[in-house]
Amino acid sequence: MSIEKLNECIKSKKANHSRSREVIYNLLLNSNECLSVSQITKELSQTYPKKLSLNSLYRHLNFFIESELVIVIQDDYKRAYYHLKENNPMFFNICTNCTNIKKLDYKEISASSEFIDAEFITIHKKCEKCKQK
Ligand SMILES: [Zn+2]
Repeated sequence: MSIEKLNECIKSKKANHSRSREVIYNLLLNSNECLSVSQITKELSQTYPKKLSLNSLYRHLNFFIESELVIVIQDDYKRAYYHLKENNPMFFNICTNCTNIKKLDYKEISASSEFIDAEFITIHKKCEKCKQK
């Protein structure tokens, strides 16, 4: 995954280059965890000098999803989390207690199973923090 992939999509969709779109993409590129809109907004306020409207943020995120660059995961409250699409299926755990979403490292399973063509798989169980309570 790299910024070139984004540039290819911009070219094929004949979209205009946008500095803010690139910044959001880089944010997702550098994050191993999935990010909610409020997390993205918070990160942007620290790294991106211009103010970006929520509308524009959603427009950029939808562009990524339409271009199949990004997947969107919803928690039990229908809150959306965004993660860059990877070549292998991705596994996410949604905590049944606090709904925290964490990416899991399940390479062994994905390489040898019927899940091979899944975009992503969500598992519902208590996260480590909630298990200790
Ligand atoms: Zn939890």
